[in-house]
Amino acid sequence: MSELPTENDAGESFRDSLGIVEKSGKRKWVYPKEPKGRFTNFRNLFSGILLLILFGTPFITVDGHPLMLFDIINRQFILFGFAFGPHDFYLLGLSMITAIVFIFLFTAVFGRLFCGWICPQTVFMESVFRKIDYWVEGDHKNQRRLNESPWTAEKTLKKGTKYVIYFVISFLTANMLLAWVIGINALHRIVIEPVNEHVAGFTAMMLFTGLFYVIFIWFREQACILVCPYGRLQGVLLDTNSIVIAYDYLRGEPRGKMKRNEERTSGDCIDCNECVVVCPTGIDIRNGTQLECVNCTACIDACDNVMDKIEKPRGLIRYDSLVGIQTKTRKIFTSRVIGYSIVQALLLSLLTFFLITRSEIDVTILRSPGMFYQEQLNDQVSNLYDMKVLNKTFEQRDIQVKLLNVKGEIKILGDNKSVPPQAAALTKMFVMLDKKSITAMNTPLLFAVYSNGKEIQRISTSFLGPVEKREKHDDREHGNERREK
Ligand code: SF4
Ligand code: SF4
Repeated sequence: MSELPTENDAGESFRDSLGIVEKSGKRKWVYPKEPKGRFTNFRNLFSGILLLILFGTPFITVDGHPLMLFDIINRQFILFGFAFGPHDFYLLGLSMITAIVFIFLFTAVFGRLFCGWICPQTVFMESVFRKIDYWVEGDHKNQRRLNESPWTAEKTLKKGTKYVIYFVISFLTANMLLAWVIGINALHRIVIEPVNEHVAGFTAMMLFTGLFYVIFIWFREQACILVCPYGRLQGVLLDTNSIVIAYDYLRGEPRGKMKRNEERTSGDCIDCNECVVVCPTGIDIRNGTQLECVNCTACIDACDNVMDKIEKPRGLIRYDSLVGIQTKTRKIFTSRVIGYSIVQALLLSLLTFFLITRSEIDVTILRSPGMFYQEQLNDQVSNLYDMKVLNKTFEQRDIQVKLLNVKGEIKILGDNKSVPPQAAALTKMFVMLDKKSITAMNTPLLFAVYSNGKEIQRISTSFLGPVEKREKHDDREHGNERREK
């Protein structure tokens, strides 16, 4: 790498400041020009599909239950119709580790593709709220003019309209978020029933509405630049082979204005600043990859439009890696990517194994601690057992138990054979065996467990019995027999 030209011969001074902060330290409000082009069109379409999924999914149910639910408060999750509860904590932990490794792997290969295309912050900011700005206040120049002008009837009308639309969308977004967390039916009750019956739900709804409103009307791109941990991790997640939105400085430099009727000797960048004025985070991508870049593709479209006009090939700004720009070859499978891929494959295999072998009902049967055997009147011996049933399904389940390997009787104590959905139940039960069938201190027992009449599990345990006493009893009986003879 050392023999390759450096990315930014102009120096690194741009890294000393943020594009959204004035020299005085004041926030610099960004008025990006509305981007137009193939990437913007594709992103608009993709954002539309994502918004449809975000707002539509809570309405989809499977057997009367949400398709997806992330009820963090009650630790209940439904993924594609399958219920997961606190008992599946190991799956949650493993999924999170798998997701983190996936993020490392994905970012090492594709950079911040997620930020530009999938992140809800970018989707809402660039494809919803920014569009409202252009629709109500006009283009970037008009927006600046309006903001800097004194309050007039026109400004009041435009700003008022914008604030109302922002509030309505923030309210709908907060409702959508709650629907993912508590389910659409619970949300419906909060909406139609009196507020005093749903104080917590209504408060959450208004807090999220306020939060979204403040983020999108005021905080905006600062969420990505100052707050988002993923954005701040880019320095360690990216390398020179990661595909990012990059300016081909070898082709573009030395930049220079285009002059009519003059043969051009400089690079393809005509220093028109179009890529800078469209940038929603206020940076100049020609300085190289920067923390502020959210991969929104606006600068690609802006530059492609310029290249079309000056009849140069598109792609002066494009998706590429630094090595790709310098050597014209892309290397995806670096040793780092291979390492991440191996770990990812192992984690995914483990997760798949746990998901496939995960049972809907877990039953354990253990002899009650501290209990020995009990001699019964009818020449039987009993042992007391604890049966724990964990029902992970959405339905009430009736549990039955049968003895498979010995003849005996099972007496369930109480009327506790049904287990409610998503709940655990503890049942006590006596197992009674005839004294004659007890041949050892520890008699192995094999139970078959049935749920709603279908065998779901076999459980082995042991039964304690009075063997020594029986042996003496048998000896006495045999002695008597011998004497009689
Ligand atoms: S839009 Fe393209 S040509 Fe214009 S300044 Fe940016 S990189 Fe240079
Ligand atoms: S540099 Fe380009 S891709 Fe990055 S945020 Fe600015 S306009 Fe979007």
